[in-house]
Amino acid sequence: PTVGVVRETNDGERRVALVPKSVAALIGKGMDVVVESGAGLGALIPDDLYKEAGATIGDAWSADVVLKVAAPNAEETARLRAGQKLIGFLAPRTNESGIAALADAGVEAYAVEAIPRISRAQVMDALSSQANVAGYKAVIVAASESTRYFPMLTTAAGTVKPATVLVLGVGVAGLQALATAKRLGGRVTGYDVRPEVADQVRSVGAQWLDLGIDAAGEGGYARQLTEAEQAQQQQALEDAIKGFDVVITTALVPGRPAPRLVTAAAVEGMKPGSVIVDLAGETGGNCEITEPGQTVVKHGVTICSPLNLPATMPEHSSELYAKNLYALVELMLDENGAVAPDFDDEVLAAACVTRKEATA
Ligand code: NAD
Repeated sequence: PTVGVVRETNDGERRVALVPKSVAALIGKGMDVVVESGAGLGALIPDDLYKEAGATIGDAWSADVVLKVAAPNAEETARLRAGQKLIGFLAPRTNESGIAALADAGVEAYAVEAIPRISRAQVMDALSSQANVAGYKAVIVAASESTRYFPMLTTAAGTVKPATVLVLGVGVAGLQALATAKRLGGRVTGYDVRPEVADQVRSVGAQWLDLGIDAAGEGGYARQLTEAEQAQQQQALEDAIKGFDVVITTALVPGRPAPRLVTAAAVEGMKPGSVIVDLAGETGGNCEITEPGQTVVKHGVTICSPLNLPATMPEHSSELYAKNLYALVELMLDENGAVAPDFDDEVLAAACVTRKEATA
């Protein structure tokens, strides 16, 4: 069977679905790998390195299994044929028309977002590998925009107090943001509506902010808050946020617009020179002032909403994503090395978002 790695075409997308190491690993499993010329350039991987790993450079779109980062656009979907398998970030909850087009084309599509968050599937969990990158980079962006130091410094010219950093939403990205801000010397605090997160927050040396709202939902995700809960949360956060130099927000509820945690009044309450980095821009933002993809300054507070941060660190984000995809492809192989996904496997059954029903 052949696996194809195609070139990403979205603006600013520098990631690639496989790196040479994962190409070699798939070849070791008896597969042929075809890479579209230039597919790795954004991640600084020239065609030659793929060739050295055993891939051929050619028509990756005709492979049995096509690997992508972003969902294909209409033009790209038109290049796929019935029965072909496609794996990528297909946005199954929000990209209805794209998924319908793949179904119409008879493509068997696998969305990495739909992989269950269970222990056995951790190695394939692309949401986690990329959220980790985003959480790290969010702190770097915040430090870069800040007019103040993160660490406490005692120098001949005086002592600088450490920055206080609040992370709202402590899933994978939030936890990495806390750990990264801590490593930079910040005094860090985490908040989430899932109480089980408190221990994880403390484990990275951060304080836990408890606002008394429990909104643990299904599958380890949060549920949407009721209106009353949301009002209570916004008010409590308005009071809490005043004391922080940096606020990083990562709160998401699957398939819903991002919850509004930081009101305009909360921003107004912050000290000039403070920074908010809103990682929820893609679904509207956690902060009322956020303009997705932009940086705005309001009352001296800088509010950044960078989109697709993983694409800004394409070497490591691609390496980790490639490892996720390798594991998923491996799971699809039968004992003879044929691509024959077993839909009794809950991981494959959940990840597969379009498939032909078996006909007798
Ligand atoms: P996510 O990106 O969906 O959301 C980020 C965080 O925002 C979550 O922690 C969520 O609780 C929080 N949030 C939502 N609404 C909020 C609100 N109104 N106020 C404050 N916080 C709010 O989350 P994620 O990073 O994808 O993680 C989801 C779950 O998956 C977590 O339980 C995580 O531990 C789990 N997980 C499990 C595995 C595994 O075992 N295989 C791997 C990775 C993640």
